Amino acid sequence: MSNRYKVRAYCSSRECDYVHKDDVIQAINFETAYGLALYYNDIPTKPSCPKCGESMAFYSHSIIDEPWLP
Ligand SMILES: [Zn+2]
Repeated sequence: MSNRYKVRAYCSSRECDYVHKDDVIQAINFETAYGLALYYNDIPTKPSCPKCGESMAFYSHSIIDEPWLP
């Protein structure tokens, strides 16, 4: 069982549900993923949403791999 921590990019507009399908980066732990998301959000030249043109926002998230059997 291993947990994975990732940063993903979402559209920052409330009216748009665009999510970049690839992970921006994979991190070794939650603190790193969280710090990287904050860092990316601070970059003035953020990528813009291909759907609506709003700037993208970065979020960290973790994937917990549940064991198939208890
Ligand atoms: Zn958008």
